[in-house]
Amino acid sequence: MGKRLLLAWLVACWPGWGIAAPLPVEEVAPGVFVYAGAHEETSAANRGAIANVGFIVGRRCVAVVDTGGSLAVGQGLREAVRVRTELPVCYVINTHVHPDHLLGNAAFAGDKPSFVGHARLPAALAARARTYLAALSRALGPEAGGTPLVPPDTLVQDTLTLDLGGRRLALRAWPTAHTDQDLTVFDEQTGTLWLGDLLFVERIPAVDGSARGWLQVMASLRGLAVQRAVPGHGPATVAWPAALDAQERYLATLVEETRRALQRRLTLQQAVDSVGHAERGKWRLFDLYHPRNVTAVYTELEWED
Ligand SMILES: [Zn+2]
Repeated sequence: MGKRLLLAWLVACWPGWGIAAPLPVEEVAPGVFVYAGAHEETSAANRGAIANVGFIVGRRCVAVVDTGGSLAVGQGLREAVRVRTELPVCYVINTHVHPDHLLGNAAFAGDKPSFVGHARLPAALAARARTYLAALSRALGPEAGGTPLVPPDTLVQDTLTLDLGGRRLALRAWPTAHTDQDLTVFDEQTGTLWLGDLLFVERIPAVDGSARGWLQVMASLRGLAVQRAVPGHGPATVAWPAALDAQERYLATLVEETRRALQRRLTLQQAVDSVGHAERGKWRLFDLYHPRNVTAVYTELEWED
């Protein structure tokens, strides 16, 4: 049974009234659980379960890393925690503003956790809240109702260490890359690095910050001593640092070819029609996101020195 079918089946058959079916998570390292999202856009069928989300269990409490694209997905993740442990959720960490990573936050409100994000996350969320909720409503219909936004109350300027009881998580806020509020989470006990959307695997990367900045951040990430990585999209875990290679090639190609297009004074449309097309076939959702990426990079590079 495919993952999506399995999820649909669980949602349909889970006993209880108003209790969400637990998201099927995988234990990728002791006490580290990941649900690998589908490579799709948010729809009524997937309810926004399209990003990788999960949790880390300490001796005292649990930290959740990203919460999914709707309240329903967040509730499924909360149930997945409950299946594994009775410990409370003390931290809900959002890796960045994108709705597939944080619209499930409200499912954890009953735990009264700290909601943790990059120092620039509240402003980004405030600016986009209406757009995100309207898009969710279009995609999910009535089921989107009751998905409130929960902003972070604990902000990371640079680095922050969280203690789950005998288990420390090292959080780091990065300069503008995928977005202007990317946060990574490193579980010291198992050497597991959660990258959020600083790492896309299989699904095409989406540039919503700075392609040049992202390449610089990737160069810094590459040097980290990491046992395994959890990408924002892709398998639950990937090999490090080899998993960076494809994304680095894509972004470098995007920057180089767009720069050349600008030097040749191509219009934006001509750039969209010509830049990076050797990458087609190497990424899921290429036709949906690649033109947007060229547009973003064209705008980014247009006035560079
Ligand atoms: Zn993202």
